[in-house]
Amino acid sequence: MPPLKEDILQSIYETFAEWSTRFSFACEKNCASCCTQNVIMTAVEGEAICRLIRQTGRDLWFADKLQNKGTTGRPRMTTNDFAGACLGQGEDGQPELLGNMSPCPFLENDCCRIYEVRPFSCRCFASEQRCSAGISALAPTYYLSAATAVLQIIEHLGQGEYWGNMLDVLSALCDQPQNRGVATLLPASFADQSRVQLVQAKPLPGFLLLEDEMEQIAPLLEAIFSRKVGGKTVESILNGR
Ligand code: SF4
Ligand code: SF4
Repeated sequence: MPPLKEDILQSIYETFAEWSTRFSFACEKNCASCCTQNVIMTAVEGEAICRLIRQTGRDLWFADKLQNKGTTGRPRMTTNDFAGACLGQGEDGQPELLGNMSPCPFLENDCCRIYEVRPFSCRCFASEQRCSAGISALAPTYYLSAATAVLQIIEHLGQGEYWGNMLDVLSALCDQPQNRGVATLLPASFADQSRVQLVQAKPLPGFLLLEDEMEQIAPLLEAIFSRKVGGKTVESILNGR
């Protein structure tokens, strides 16, 4: 059975998906030019992926995918670090996009092989026009702001744990006892080398929402916080009550 954090994560994913049905995006099955190695996530999202790999007996496949990952970089700020800086609570700076635009290794025949547990960065990437070379994704500004707010909540959920490139987080998680099956298939220092590319997820310092966006986004935030998981609201759990 997944732990409470993964249940909260699932509840957040579902609430965002329900709220997003108001948009008409061009995204459809087998449209996958957005699937690059430039995916950021938290350890709690990685643990859900590792669970799926164990349950489906795909250790060898997974180890092969991780070993073939491209070069990534260590992010300087998390989403919540950046929000904190904008709100005057932390070190000033700009977040860096240090990902790798090569195809995601989990993409096979234009289908995601971990689709049911793909991280939020993949779930929220959407476009009103079909992307291709020279045509970039297009989405309403308040959709992008809402997605950023949800990324902040998920980072808060995983605070103190790994935050960074999806493939680095997954590689670092391989030295957990439950993932030993994959670790034995990887070089001895693989998890350590990936860990140095990661930073720590931070608590939510506040949202970066403009006043005129609040009217459209507040119902989403209320729906996320008021849902009950394990008999308590997500808000009370995230506040440590
Ligand atoms: S974001 Fe662009 S490439 Fe990705 S599924 Fe949507 S339309 Fe296709
Ligand atoms: S994890 Fe899946 S949805 Fe996300 S980038 Fe990779 S193939 Fe695409």
